Order: sequence, then C-alpha cells, then structure tokens
Amino acid sequence: MTTETFPATRTEALARLAAFAPRMGAAYAAGRNSDPGPGARRDVSRLSPAVRLRLVTEAELVGTALDHHGAQAAEKFIQEVFWRSYWKGWLELRPGVWDAYRAELARDRATLATNGGLRHAYERAVNGTTGIACFDAWVAELRETGWLHNHVRMWVASIWIFTLRLPWTLGAELFLHHLLDGDAASNTLSWRWVAGMQTPGKHYVARAENIRRHTLGRFDPVGELDENPLPLDAPVPPPIRPLRPADARPTGPLLLLLHEDDLHAESLLPPQAAVAAVGAIAVPERRGPTGCAPEVAGFVRRAVEDGLRRAAAHFRAPAQMLEPGEVARWAAGHGLPVVTPWAPVGWTAAVLDGLGTPLLRLRRDWDSACWPRATKGFFPFRESIPALIERLAPTPPMG
Ligand SMILES: Cc1cc2nc3c(=O)[nH]c(=O)nc-3n(C[C@H](O)[C@H](O)[C@H](O)COP(=O)(O)OP(=O)(O)OC[C@H]3O[C@@H](n4cnc5c(N)ncnc54)[C@H](O)[C@@H]3O)c2cc1C
Repeated sequence: MTTETFPATRTEALARLAAFAPRMGAAYAAGRNSDPGPGARRDVSRLSPAVRLRLVTEAELVGTALDHHGAQAAEKFIQEVFWRSYWKGWLELRPGVWDAYRAELARDRATLATNGGLRHAYERAVNGTTGIACFDAWVAELRETGWLHNHVRMWVASIWIFTLRLPWTLGAELFLHHLLDGDAASNTLSWRWVAGMQTPGKHYVARAENIRRHTLGRFDPVGELDENPLPLDAPVPPPIRPLRPADARPTGPLLLLLHEDDLHAESLLPPQAAVAAVGAIAVPERRGPTGCAPEVAGFVRRAVEDGLRRAAAHFRAPAQMLEPGEVARWAAGHGLPVVTPWAPVGWTAAVLDGLGTPLLRLRRDWDSACWPRATKGFFPFRESIPALIERLAPTPPMG
C-alpha cells in the first residue's frame, strides 16, 4: 500500500495548505466524494489532523479558499470546514451525549468480554478479516496510516453497524484509537449520524454501486452488504446547555498552558501578552479505554512540541512539556494566573478539569460565533455561514 503522510508541524501544514489552495474550488466540488486510494488523492486536502490540532485554524482554511476562489466557487469546501465547527458546537451544547457514548461503550466492552460470538465477529472486523474486501482494506489502511477519506469513513461505519451488526460504540472507539485527527465531536456525532441516531430515522446506508463508482472501480461489494437496514434507535438528546462564558485574558503577566485542542497560540493571544512561561500537556492516550495507537501518541506529541516551540519563540518565554500531575506545581512555582485555550468537550477538557489548579479558558471568536448556532441540524446552521464569514472576516495565514 502506498502510504499517506500527514503534517505534524505548522510549517508542514502551511505547505500543504498552500499546495491544496488551487484545488479548493471546482476541483474539490467535483472530486471530494471519490476516493482514488492512497497516494492518488488530489481532491481533498488531507489536512484534518493539522486542523484538529489547530496547527492551522479553520479561519485560515476558509480565508485561503475565499482568497483563491471567492465565496461561490469555494462554497463546498467552506461548508465542509463549517461541518467541523457545527459538530464541535453541537456537542459543546450537549456534553451529556459524550458521557452517554462513554457509558454505552463501557457496557459494550463488558458484553464483548463475556459474549464469545460477538467477540469473534468484533475481532474479525478490527483485524480486517471479514472477507468483505473493501472493508478489510480500509481497516488495514486505518491501522497503517491513521487516516481515511470521508466517504470511506461513512462506508466503514455503515458496514460496521448494518452489515456486520456490531455495536456502533466499538466502531467509534476503533476510529478514535487509530485516527490522527481523532476528535470527540466529529467522530462520535458522525457515527451517530450514520447510525440514524443524530437525525432520527435518517441513516446512511453503504451501497455496492455507490462504492464501486466512488472508488473508481477499485471495489465492488455487490451482494455483500445489507442495503435495506433499519436505523438504530436513540434516546432524545439532553436539553441544550447554554455555552459557558469564556474567561477574560489577564492584563498582567501570565502562564500559558497549551494542549492538543489548539496549537496556534500566536493567534490566540495578542503579541503584547506578557507570557512569563509556556507549558504544554499531551494526553492523547486518554481518548478512550484502550488509549490510542503509538503512532497517534507520537504524532500528537510532535505537534504539541511544535506548538510549544513556536509559542516560546513568539512570546520570548521559556517553555517545557509537562505531565498533567506537574501543572499545579509549575503554576504555584510562578505564582501567576494560568491561561489555556478553550478545550471543547472531550478527553483533554476532562484532564484540564482535574489538574487541581485554576485555569482561565480563552475561546476563539470563531468558536464563540459558531457554536451557539448549532442548536438544530446542519442545514439551518449552513444558512448562517455567509453571516459568520462577514462577522469573522477570515484571512489566509500570515506566514
Ligand atoms: C464516521 C466518521 C468519523 C469521523 N471522524 C472524524 C474525526 O475523528 N476527526 C475529524 O477531524 N473528522 C472526522 N470525520 C470527518 C471527515 O471524515 C474528516 O474530517 C475528513 O475526512 C478530513 O479529510 P480532509 O482533511 O481531506 O478534508 P477536506 O475535505 O479537505 O475538508 C477540509 C477540512 O474540513 C473539515 N471537514 C471536512 N469534512 C468534514 C466532516 N464531514 N465533518 C467534520 N469536519 C469535516 C476537516 O477539518 C478537514 O480537514 C469523520 C467522518 C465520519 C463519517
């Protein structure tokens, strides 16, 4: 298999963004749904691990697309970036859905330990030995590269749930374990969406003909898939919890604590911010009960170290990686307030809550503008994209 690589530093991410910019218009709209396979993908950016870690920001992606193509020609690309902001907001307003996923996953893992038939089927799926050639190849690709094309993710999730009839939580966990871009909101809510739990009664069914067409004939699982399944039931989501207010940045000296949810401190704080020291934590192994693949841990750590190095140079401050258990002592030793980028619902937010030291959480205008609008489905949210662009005025990266 020709393997894919993914930028783990801002410099590499900016290079990929620049190279992809000419394709964010018509090429993206025409080609984004098809997957020609590893090494041959030209019509999607493959920037998701970098965006997930905010080595580049959503504003920079949208700003680049507008700059190169204008709002109309880049509409499709811009909408996809806003899917990410929509999912983040949807979960932020309903954190109980993440807790419910984790609780259901724990129950399904317990069943796996006692039910031999389920365990056998699960092992065939996660080892890519089901006999469904496309599914097995995609599981191998996920394990090998830590990434899958969006349409492939939809097919894999659908085959997992409706053909293999495995619990959706175990599939979502497999993805989170291996994806370099593993994200509590995009992953959990996309799996729920495929299952028919996110938009009740509407599920995503993988069809052999669609797979054949959009893999350009590389796979043709005719007769192998359940193409007439019923959607899964889901309890009504909890009522919306209004977005918690962000903290204000202190005017005097401060400590900056970075983490994997936002690694572009240079655009989070103004250049005159009096940063006395920068620390960073990396906790990708807290993604779930089985942690994460070593490749994911290495990738996230490299990216966090890159964010730390850049912040240290930008704010001319000493910098160090910290274990979560060291943060309280680090803060007490300096005797200064600790500022951190807002961590949305997920494992990093949970770790930050348990550090035992007060934190001032700063939220980007992008998130504050987008998230409160994720009250209903994506289509009403999409209507507000022009107003969001007007308000946020995204621009390409400065350098
Ligand atoms: C079952 C399932 C699980 C998924 N899990 C994750 C996940 O854990 N983390 C993650 O970042 N994405 C997830 N996605 C969304 C999507 O598949 C990836 O973001 C996309 O494949 C990234 O490829 P790209 O960078 O080439 O995107 P492009 O098509 O080039 O789009 C540009 C950027 O927009 C964002 N984006 C594009 N499509 C989506 C989408 N459908 N949903 C959310 N954001 C999007 C990404 O940040 C992406 O880098 C999941 C989708 C499905 C169906």
